[in-house]
Amino acid sequence: MSSVFSGARKRLQTLGQASGVSKSVIESLSRPRATHCASLPILMDDGSTQYFDAYRCQYSAHLGPCKGGIRFHPKVTQDEVQALALWMTIKCAVVDLPYGGAKGGVSVDPKVLSRMELERLSRAYMRAMADFVGPNKDIPAPDIYTNARIMGWMRDEFEVIKREKQPAVITGKPVNMGGSLGRDEATGRGAFLVTEFLRSKEGLAAEDIRVAVQGFGNAGYNIAKHLFDAGYKIIAISDSKGAIYDEAGLDVNKVKEFKDEFRSFGSDYCKRSVCDSVTHKTITHEELLALDVDLLVPAALENAITSKNVNDIKAKWITEVANGPVSAAADEVLHSRGVVIIPDVLANSGGVIVSYFEWVQNRAGYPWALEEVRSRMQEKLKASFDEMWLYQHKSEHTSLRAAAYAKALNKLEQAINLRGTKEYFSNAEN
Ligand code: NAD
Repeated sequence: MSSVFSGARKRLQTLGQASGVSKSVIESLSRPRATHCASLPILMDDGSTQYFDAYRCQYSAHLGPCKGGIRFHPKVTQDEVQALALWMTIKCAVVDLPYGGAKGGVSVDPKVLSRMELERLSRAYMRAMADFVGPNKDIPAPDIYTNARIMGWMRDEFEVIKREKQPAVITGKPVNMGGSLGRDEATGRGAFLVTEFLRSKEGLAAEDIRVAVQGFGNAGYNIAKHLFDAGYKIIAISDSKGAIYDEAGLDVNKVKEFKDEFRSFGSDYCKRSVCDSVTHKTITHEELLALDVDLLVPAALENAITSKNVNDIKAKWITEVANGPVSAAADEVLHSRGVVIIPDVLANSGGVIVSYFEWVQNRAGYPWALEEVRSRMQEKLKASFDEMWLYQHKSEHTSLRAAAYAKALNKLEQAINLRGTKEYFSNAEN
């Protein structure tokens, strides 16, 4: 099985060399600062005990406390978590957040757990990691199959352990537990905004852009909704069970209503698939990726596009909402064919930007209005997009991804150099 982390490292090394940062900096960023592993014993409703492998990788703290989501998924491994944490390190630097990178996960299928089992698992994760996380150390957030409710349980568990209120320990919480307005929509909305910036540079009308969206969870739904509302034509949508297709265009709001129909208050996960809808033609996951669309939005898992299927891809633009959806090898092929890719480290950064705003609001004890959250996110994304665009257009044969890595790695290099050799001795303490 190919290692996601070795792919992420290879990309770091290739783009790092091209960006002119020193070998020693690339070397230092090629390994995580620390990865904590735990086995979580969970009392199941039937009285048995099951054990789940859990991870928290704190990849880099050069620019500030570590930051990154927690994923609950059967395919979570230490290798995957480390790759995701490396990408978080790059992402926070690209959009100028005062954070390092982290990621966590539990290898579990949360869809088969009861509400009580899910709560026990979430609290057990926080108990296992409580010594390593904190508002000034490492701040988790939601990712695949985790949500605001889970973040709320984790905040609560942390405060029970520490015996004081610490809302800034975790972001993506429910609004009435210290969450920020606009956090729920932030990843998808941010990805929509950067796609709009690209569209305006390319001078196309929204109505002329046909879109396929892979993954219809928090991030996939929110970008699809914003694109749909702006007039883009969404012709295919998928979830873990399959994909639906309609050449005339899908109504994203109706698809969402349908998928949520059986999501009762007692359930954290949708009980239905987009494919249960009988009004649309169903297609396979592979067929969705290979559709002749203008814009492809991978918003599910990493390595959706690899050297195996890259030659089937017909999209002209790709907005990477998922982390690492295009492998390094596939990336080269797409770039040589002139496909414009808005890279994950920019495209899905709206989530961590609003997580940062949530952390700021928690620390100040002063919540912001939704409009303020939205306009500040837009401002940050516009500045980052324009910076990448300019860099890309100044040097031939480069890409928005290369521009993003060049910016992030130069920033990290400066921070590493400013701290001098102390870094090498005090890494474990800060
Ligand atoms: P989610 O749990 O809300 O949704 C995941 C969706 O992907 C579900 O609809 C699921 O059915 C679908 N899916 C799973 N496997 C699939 C497959 N093989 N084909 C098609 N669909 C599949 O997760 P999310 O928060 O929306 O995260 C999606 C991606 O976005 C992940 O890569 C995540 O790391 C990235 N991301 C999320 C955030 C955030 O704030 N939630 C921030 C940055 C990046």
